[in-house]
Order: sequence, then structure tokens, then C-alpha cells
Amino acid sequence: MKILVVNAGSSSLKFQLFDARTETVLIKGTYDGIALTGAESSCERKIVMADKTDRDTCTVGDHESAIGDMLETLRIKGAISDRAEIAAVGHRVVHGGERYSATTLIDGTVMSELGKNALLAPLHNPVGIACIEILIHDLPGTRQYAIFDTAFHQTMPEEAYLYGLPYALYKQFGIRKYGFHGTSHKYVSLKAAEILGRNIAELKIVTCHLGNGQSICAVKHGRSVDTSMGFTPLEGLPMGTRSGSFDPEIVFFLMGHGYTAAAIKSIINKESGLLGLSGISSDHRAIEEAMHAGDPNAIRAEKVLANRIICTIGAYAAEMGGLDTVVFTGGIGENSPTLRRDVLENLGLLGINFDDEKNRSRATILTRPDSRVVAMVVPTNEELQIMREARAALSG
Ligand code: AMP
Repeated sequence: MKILVVNAGSSSLKFQLFDARTETVLIKGTYDGIALTGAESSCERKIVMADKTDRDTCTVGDHESAIGDMLETLRIKGAISDRAEIAAVGHRVVHGGERYSATTLIDGTVMSELGKNALLAPLHNPVGIACIEILIHDLPGTRQYAIFDTAFHQTMPEEAYLYGLPYALYKQFGIRKYGFHGTSHKYVSLKAAEILGRNIAELKIVTCHLGNGQSICAVKHGRSVDTSMGFTPLEGLPMGTRSGSFDPEIVFFLMGHGYTAAAIKSIINKESGLLGLSGISSDHRAIEEAMHAGDPNAIRAEKVLANRIICTIGAYAAEMGGLDTVVFTGGIGENSPTLRRDVLENLGLLGINFDDEKNRSRATILTRPDSRVVAMVVPTNEELQIMREARAALSG
């Protein structure tokens, strides 16, 4: 049985075709730099099959032609001989609002609900919805499922998801914390339980997804009970270019100094975080390089990030009434021993007995055998989790 996983970004399209029984990836690919004009323009195409990578430039003017190219590529490369072989498609959908707390078979009602949520995720949902419509048209007999980034966090209790704003704003506009990266937090928390050889239903886990976007999640007994991203993916930790949390009065202070709403939106989304703090780069590798050369701007950015991670892990341990394991994932979490050290060295109070030698040698477990809390690295695999969700839904 073959399951296709599709992740449509504002100007990109990623896909993976799985053999659902063996969980192997038969073929995967990315289209980057898709123009939104519909006019033919060049976009970077990368196709990986059987350890062979083909990169080239292709002319696709929009997501519709990228999907057409993707389906044709599956056939030309021999990954399918007929489109009917695709038993299901799992679509990554950024925002499911309050309505969707689980993987959902897409029908007309779901499509119109997703359209409403597009207001909450303006960058991703409209493109995602368009891609679902195209694939429903192109694969008429295939079941299509929505797997929401927000779904895993729908188990948060009211005291965690409500802001200290008038309750009427929540009722009227749905202003509350939703949380994102849910598929990743779910995948790595399940994997952590597997690595520990314990039942997730008895564990208190903090998962740190640290990449260009960053969020932390408190996973108590397998359910998200709090997370650092909020109404939008801006809240929480400083990220590559996003500010993370700050005092909202700063917005009005800046407006008083002549900044427009558009300028502030750009600052907090595109000019802040690691980039804004360091003035060097949003890319953590560049920050690390500069830090090793002693650059005080890079050191400052790293210290702010580590501080926020430490504070969040501590808060979530308190919120869950204990902690069994801390998991690092995402491009930075998986690859930066320096950041992991800067965080874990400061969490002795929580019962973390950090072992920097293991950390530097890229071991999975980062703590000593007598450590009360186990810290570990778990590479995330959102596509695999999406495939598993679609497979589970398909088999009822
Ligand atoms: P992601 O959004 O998960 O792809 O993560 C992107 C971030 O991970 C960027 O800031 C990268 O610089 C960082 N990253 C990826 N590989 C490494 C590495 N080997 N060392 C340090 N940071 C890395």
C-alpha cells in the first residue's frame, strides 16, 4: 500500500511517497521557489530515489503545475505505474483551529472549515487548501486526510491555552493559544518513550523543536498540556528571524515613534530572533561559527536563546509536576552540541546530570546513567508521522 505525504508551503512543495507497510520512502522531492503568479517561471526541483539525488530547474508557474509535475515524476521514475496505486494522501495543514483535534478525512464540509481557518494562518493555509483541491481532482478515487500542526495541542487545558485577555475576545475571535509543530512534538515524544523502553502514558516529557521555527511542548502522559507557540507561530522562543514573546506594549511604543504597523510586522517576523539579536545571520551555523571566533554579537544571541529554552523547560517541569526526559529535535536541536550544552548545563536543579562528552560525540542520550532526568536527541520525522496518521485513519 502506497501513501503520499504532501507538505505545501507558501512557495514550496515537498512530498514523500511511502510503502506504508514497511514505512520505507520510495521517492521524495522538493519544489522550491514556486512563483505565485501562474506565469511560467523557474523553480528548483530536487528528487531523491534509491539514494540517487537529481537536482534541476523546472518551469512550474504555480502549485497546480508543481503537483502535475510531481505526479508525472512518480510515474516516470517507476514509483507508481498508475495513480490509483496511491491509497491515501496525507496533507500537512498548519491550522486546524479548535475544531480539529485529530487526523480528518477531507470532504466538502472540511474544505469550507479549512477556508475559515485560513484567516488564522494566512501564509500557509490558502496554498494548502489549493493543493488539496488539486489533488482531489487529480486523484479522484484516493482518500485525502488533513494532518494538522495544531491538532496535538488541542489537549491543552483551558488554563494553559487562554491568555489574560477579555474572555469575550476568545469567544468572538478564537483568540487563544493553539500551538504548532504538533506532528513533530508527537513523533519525538513517542520515539523518546520507545528509546526509554517505557509506556508514554507514564512519562512527563519536554520536547524542544529547535530549527528556523522553534517551539517547546510539555507532553504529559502522551498529551500536550502546554506549548510555547501561541495564537500564531510568533509566540515563544526567539527563532531564526521571529522575535518570539515580548511585551505587546512595545508595538504601541514604536508606533508612537513613527513606525507603521507593516514595519513592525516585518521587524517581529523577519528581522528579529537570532538575526536581529546578532546582526549576523538567522542561520544557527553562522552564529556558532562567529561565537567560536569570539564575536560578542553572536554570543549575545545564543545566550538569549538558551535563556528562554531553560526558562521554558523549567516552567513546564513545574506545570507537569515532574520531568522524566527532555528531547532535542529540529535542525539546531539535532545538530548543535553547543546550544544543548548551554541549556543542559544549567538544568542540574531539575535532576539533569549532563554528560558533555556524550553530547559532543553525538550520542542519543546526553546524560549520565545516574541522571534522574534523561536528556536525548531524537531526529524528527514529520513526514513519517503524517504517513502513520493517514495509515491509521485509512485502516479505521
Ligand atoms: P530546520 O528549520 O529544522 O531545518 O533547522 C534550521 C536551523 O538548523 C538553521 O538555523 C541551521 O543553521 C540549523 N542547523 C542545521 N544543521 C546544523 C548544524 N550541523 N549545526 C548547527 N546548526 C545547524
